[in-house]
Amino acid sequence: MIPSVLPTYNRAPLHFVKGEGAWLTEADGRRFLDLGSGIAVNALGHAHPALVKALTDQAQNLWHVSNLYQIPQQQALADKLVEHTFADTVFFTNSGTEACELAVKMARKHFYDKGQPERVEIITFDGSFHGRSSAGIAAAGSEKMVKGFGPLLPGFVHLTFGDLDGVTNAITDRTAAILIEPVQGEGGIRPVPDAELKALRQICDEHGLLLILDEVQCGMGRTGRLFAHEWAGITPDIMMVAKGIGGGFPLGAVLATEEAASGMTAGTHGSTYGGNPLGCAVGCAVMDHVSDPAFLAEVNRKAALLRQRLEGLVAAHPEVFEEVRGSGLMLGLKCKASNLDVVKAGYDNLVITVPAADNVIRLLPPLTLTEDDIAEAFTRLDATARQVEAT
Ligand SMILES: *Cc1c(COP(=O)(O)O)cnc(C)c1O
Repeated sequence: MIPSVLPTYNRAPLHFVKGEGAWLTEADGRRFLDLGSGIAVNALGHAHPALVKALTDQAQNLWHVSNLYQIPQQQALADKLVEHTFADTVFFTNSGTEACELAVKMARKHFYDKGQPERVEIITFDGSFHGRSSAGIAAAGSEKMVKGFGPLLPGFVHLTFGDLDGVTNAITDRTAAILIEPVQGEGGIRPVPDAELKALRQICDEHGLLLILDEVQCGMGRTGRLFAHEWAGITPDIMMVAKGIGGGFPLGAVLATEEAASGMTAGTHGSTYGGNPLGCAVGCAVMDHVSDPAFLAEVNRKAALLRQRLEGLVAAHPEVFEEVRGSGLMLGLKCKASNLDVVKAGYDNLVITVPAADNVIRLLPPLTLTEDDIAEAFTRLDATARQVEAT
């Protein structure tokens, strides 16, 4: 008999009842170190006092009004995002994949309004992940995601990750945009080298294409800059954001330049919940922390400490781990043993990690991780590796 919850997930037999900082308490009382943050969502950790206050203060006044009316919290969050990024304008969604939907629509509308309606194609890369909506799975194009769900949304051209020559060769007079994650998350923590992001920006400029960055996982301070593309010294035309921006409240956004967004006039897009007062009140509190240079400096300091410990871990357990990769607090351990076995052994040792493609385990801890937490992370991952070695 089908379970009452549609069985689309392989869930671990863990149920958490309370969170605080980087720690989760299981119903049986065990305390787990959370190096997953609900897949890079709880950027400020669990139950951060500023987020609890923002949410509860807002909840006592007004939850929802719809986008038929002015929403000051939404205006405030958009202003903060515009102030701190390349963007001139922001649309709020509830998730990353909804941000993908709008990014695709926006790119097509941009060229339609410019009198180039044939420019509809978007170049994407293997190993990418843009969510589970019809546009999201068509964009990523992996068999695992699309099989059985056709016909797919047409207009995506899939290239090999890192194949710059392929990009130039794939551009035709039907090409509208290039869509890429600066650091692939689900694909196994695969960073795009800065030089490659620069080259993609240049290719877009030369051919009059839009560069769309998916920073749903790598954005919001995760790599030690507010957005990952800042490391490469480039800016996109359109950017997808979600996960960390809500700190645990469902919230996403599309950021864009005025030029890229020019076709999105009244009535061309919408969302009932997108940008509602609760989500945006929390989003403002998250932004206030994460956009502070002192906060980002701390993220970089912690990231260096954690990375150093992980390099030691890999050296100590060559049969379990192959290498550390990633950027800031978006780190991956490429495994020699099965990554799923390592994640499972982690549960036995009270540490939570997240599997990814390419036999990688992801470490996406709260950005507020303390030095004590880092020491605990090492101890627990070391015990995890010993357990895997023993089996
Ligand atoms: C998680 C993720 C998405 C999808 O976000 P949802 O909120 O699950 O729809 C899109 N792109 C990237 C890079 C992601 O990591």
